[in-house]
Amino acid sequence: MTGPVHWLFGDQLGPAFLAPGDGGPHRDAPVVMIESRAVFRRRRFHRAKAHLVLSAMRHRAAELGERVTYVRADTYREGLAKAAGEGTEVTVRHPTSRAALGLVRSLAGVTVRPPAGFLVPTTDFAAWADGRGGEKLRQEAFYRWVRRTHDLLMDGDEPAGGRWNLDRDNREPPPRGGARLGEPAPYRPRESAIDEEVRRDLDRWERDGDVSFVGRDGPRLFPATRREALSALRRFVAHRLADFGPYEDAMLHDDPVMSHSLLSSSLNLGLLDPAECVAAAESAWRAGAAPLNSVEGFVRQIAGWREYVWQLYWYFGEEYRHANHLRHTGELPGWWNELDADAVTARCLSTVLAQVRDTGWTHHIPRLMVLGSHALQRGWDPAAVTDWFHRCFVDGYDWVMLPNVVGMSQYADGGRMTTKPYTSGGAYIHRMSDLCGPCAYRPDRRTGEEACPVTAGYWSFVHRHRGLLARNPRTSQAARGLERLGDLDELLRAERARGTAAP
Ligand code: FAD
Repeated sequence: MTGPVHWLFGDQLGPAFLAPGDGGPHRDAPVVMIESRAVFRRRRFHRAKAHLVLSAMRHRAAELGERVTYVRADTYREGLAKAAGEGTEVTVRHPTSRAALGLVRSLAGVTVRPPAGFLVPTTDFAAWADGRGGEKLRQEAFYRWVRRTHDLLMDGDEPAGGRWNLDRDNREPPPRGGARLGEPAPYRPRESAIDEEVRRDLDRWERDGDVSFVGRDGPRLFPATRREALSALRRFVAHRLADFGPYEDAMLHDDPVMSHSLLSSSLNLGLLDPAECVAAAESAWRAGAAPLNSVEGFVRQIAGWREYVWQLYWYFGEEYRHANHLRHTGELPGWWNELDADAVTARCLSTVLAQVRDTGWTHHIPRLMVLGSHALQRGWDPAAVTDWFHRCFVDGYDWVMLPNVVGMSQYADGGRMTTKPYTSGGAYIHRMSDLCGPCAYRPDRRTGEEACPVTAGYWSFVHRHRGLLARNPRTSQAARGLERLGDLDELLRAERARGTAAP
């Protein structure tokens, strides 16, 4: 093979990664894709995630036809040697994990080109962050900067509609009395022969005892091709974006998706570009097809949160992975590792764990305020929690997991990313969902047979970290609240007795 050859990783599958210019490969450069078995052997992934990634890679290879050499190998190193041979010049876009970046930099003849698939170059972010004079980094400030510099939802120098943040109009509890929000169904793809082949391969790997998976692998629910991802984006913008804002934080037992876009796996596989997603949402608002609170909420998720998380992954450095400010060392129990939702009585946790088991996806609030909050309350090791999220979610990758789990959900970074630990008692879950009604526990009970494990877990967490919470103006009231609890000793005894048992 004559070079330069361009190497595409499995999360670099959209056209942006092969576009010439901005450090991209030469037009018509031969392409190499490597399916590494070792990746699947090292970690016990959700089967639906393994399926999605392999399906997307193989679909991309089929589209590229003769231009691509698709190699199945044990490791990337072996795969590249097989595909490109010694002495071949190879280019690759900046990978999305530190491990992969270390690998490509260590390989002779491989030139690393700038990343694609994000809005802001990491060097621009570093300059922005360093220029803040030691002030704490906050997503809101970053988001406004991105809006200005990318002219997103702006009217001249002002935010469209006059306000940067429309959260006040969003975050409503779900409408009472309805089991579902009543939105048009989200886009779901149709499987192809490639999916059948992937399923056969996964069955064989499992039978051979080579790899093992967790979770169920039903029909593929998320796009594996650019065409499918564009259909999903179009359907979301046309039919579901309008209601995105108000119910962004709400949960319904029978409606796991609500108005969420389900675009994260497509964005993270590189099938969609963030710029086209926010542009489509802005156009819908400018055409009068969706209200500003929903459009701003969606743009904030992508141009604000997603982008911020990507930047922090690189900015905070390798050590961030080991952060453990709260000194949590608990092991994840078996029922959690196995996604054994049926072992759990608490309806919120059992519902959400079942969603993860069955689909490898649940929306932001179940991740943060049910799953993450439970792990935080139980004091589980943040690195183990991060690994669990990475393996069990269809959209999980190292870059997106570290800030979201270590920082946002487990407060293991001591507040570099958020202003306070995110956890709550059952009252929050009750207000924001229909999950508590038929539950065996009562959200307002701290002790006794019907004590809500979320409420008791919350007070146990506050008690364990009362010193730290008392010093933070955003949580000092919670720490003071302990003084009002006449049943604290009984609560702490019951929580200790619960240990790692499924609540
Ligand atoms: P929507 O609610 O429709 O939001 C639109 C888009 O915004 C998403 O598709 C996503 O690309 C982006 N987005 C919003 N918030 C974030 C965020 N905090 N980080 C990154 N992107 C964001 N997101 C992932 O993509 N992969 C993960 O592995 C992941 N793990 C998470 C773990 C925890 C503990 C928490 C609290 C959040 C995590 N998130 C993750 C962020 C967020 O929950 C998901 O992006 C979102 O639920 C995906 O569903 P959606 O596409 O319907 O999102």
